Amino acid sequence: MSETLPTSAPPRWMNYLALALLLLALAWLIMRPPPLEPVQPVPYSHFKALVREGTMAEVSLRGKVAQGRLVAPRPLGPQGALIQKVSTRLPDLGDDTLLPLLEEKGVTVSVEADDPQGGLLALAAVFLPWVLLFLFFYWVYQRTQRTLSGIGGAGDLKGFLEGAVKKAEVPEVNFEDVAGQDNAKREVAELVEYLRDPERFRRLGAEVPKGVLLMGAPGTGKTLLAKALAGEAGVPFYSISASEFIEIFVGVGASRVRRLFKAAKENAPAIVFIDELDSIGRTRGTGLGGGHDEREQTLNQILAELDGFTGREAVIVLAATNRPDILDPALLRPGRFDRHVTLELPDRKDRVAILRVHLRKIPVAGDVDLDRIAAGTPGFSGADLKNLVNEAAILAARDNEFQVRMKHFDEARDKILLGGVRSLVIQPDERHRLAVHEAGHTLVAHFLPHADPLYKVTIIPRGRALGGTHQLPETERHTLPEDYLFDRLAVILAGRAAEEAVLGNVSSGADDDIHQATQLARAMVGRWGMSREIGPVDLRESDEHPFLGLEIAQPRRYSEHAAQAVDEAVQALLKKAEETAREVIRAHRGELDQLVAALEEKETLVRSEIEACLGGRPGQQADEAAT
Ligand code: ADP
Ligand code: ZN
Repeated sequence: MSETLPTSAPPRWMNYLALALLLLALAWLIMRPPPLEPVQPVPYSHFKALVREGTMAEVSLRGKVAQGRLVAPRPLGPQGALIQKVSTRLPDLGDDTLLPLLEEKGVTVSVEADDPQGGLLALAAVFLPWVLLFLFFYWVYQRTQRTLSGIGGAGDLKGFLEGAVKKAEVPEVNFEDVAGQDNAKREVAELVEYLRDPERFRRLGAEVPKGVLLMGAPGTGKTLLAKALAGEAGVPFYSISASEFIEIFVGVGASRVRRLFKAAKENAPAIVFIDELDSIGRTRGTGLGGGHDEREQTLNQILAELDGFTGREAVIVLAATNRPDILDPALLRPGRFDRHVTLELPDRKDRVAILRVHLRKIPVAGDVDLDRIAAGTPGFSGADLKNLVNEAAILAARDNEFQVRMKHFDEARDKILLGGVRSLVIQPDERHRLAVHEAGHTLVAHFLPHADPLYKVTIIPRGRALGGTHQLPETERHTLPEDYLFDRLAVILAGRAAEEAVLGNVSSGADDDIHQATQLARAMVGRWGMSREIGPVDLRESDEHPFLGLEIAQPRRYSEHAAQAVDEAVQALLKKAEETAREVIRAHRGELDQLVAALEEKETLVRSEIEACLGGRPGQQADEAAT
């Protein structure tokens, strides 16, 4: 959902106009009637002889040209074709004998005005269709240019000949136009300083990232953020959408990339933005058409450009994707897109902020409650909210109102939701369950002394996960103590336990939790010897490749009996962890309910907000004393 620059988007009617011109030109060429009666040019002497013979019926004089119609057709044409009309040029010196001769033979003589326009019209009739055709192809060319580069305007004939790219413009948006997304903004804000004054960084030999990957669901503002960065730094913004390469003629993509980067370097400091990187940056070797298809060539060119930076050019390349998981690893290597910035779907507070941005130029009535709109639009992206505002304004205009009212927003929201365009709509009861589930994870993580401290919890869907509880290890751990792992198990199973305690039943939402917990428990028992019954025996079912995470199947090296014992120990461990989670929830039921309410209201809670509900962390003192 990228918004194109004004210069890069020819208005839609242009398409129709161009098509109409093409059809007109073709029709003209095909249907142009042949000249009605061919006129055979003949030498003046011949013409005069025809008059003298008495075979001329009529002569019309126009300037220096005489045209005559014969009484009957005669074989005067090429290969003796029959001809009835002849024409000739009159001698410049004049011929005093012609007129008397015509009179004598009784030929009808007419004199027409010397009309040069007639000749021009005839000429135009011949050339105009070709001109139209040329214009059409020129227009197609222009369009392709713009599609590829997002830049370059009409009348760029010099560019056409030289293959140059016109200087892009500095976008008119800045960080104020990007609501929420504080983390992402902070990450790219560092680059503003650099783009404003690259020399300052160069002097010190500081390395600035040249490739930044913006990741996030469609409509979360990736394009907007890239543009805002350029606008904020006051540098030109060069953009291409990678998906468009696929539709364009072979070989154009790579050369287009080369020219785009060249132009950006010439106008540095500058931003290059590559939208929908995944469409060409997909893992190589999976596409059809062998190893040399357009996609791959273009991708290789982008890699070559990134590698080709000497560090002296102040060009920063931003690329957007909503599928970082399928990107070719070559793109993510150090020195390429090695800085990753994630844009998330906005929470309630941020939705209010986004609505505010888009309502800046729209008159709203006093009854409009942005907070209520935000509360009713969980899962909406920035682009969805922009769309909502626009729909509401249209509805208000239809009602002949001068202000947009709350009812227009309600109506617009229903329309968008019913339209089914949104992929993920959360029902209110689902939302409650989600809040309970996540609050369970959070509560248990908070109260168990060895669990990782909480960082934030959210019920905003992201990717395939519906919500998330994020814990942040205080220090990087290299060995995992048993009590830490056990608390982790309990935290993983706490979502389910909370659903059971509050709602009286569990749901399929804990699917991934159970999978994770089982894997962890299996490793604890069969690998790290953390079960008293089993003891320190390696009872892994498969060997994990230490780097690739690949499972390499191995023949089982232990007895059926041992396998059964492992299964039982794993089960016992999981049950014990679940019981621990239940106990914590039972002991702190009041706090859990508070947390659920807060989560339903704000959707995302950061550490300080969690602690406001649950109090300080009891384990903390002990932890600190221990270290
Ligand atoms: P993406 O590139 O991630 O698909 P875009 O940047 O094209 O999304 O977003 C589309 C439009 O949605 C933007 O032009 C902007 O008007 C609106 N939008 C998205 N996110 C925000 C935001 N955080 N604040 C304000 N407007 C936003
Ligand atoms: Zn869970």
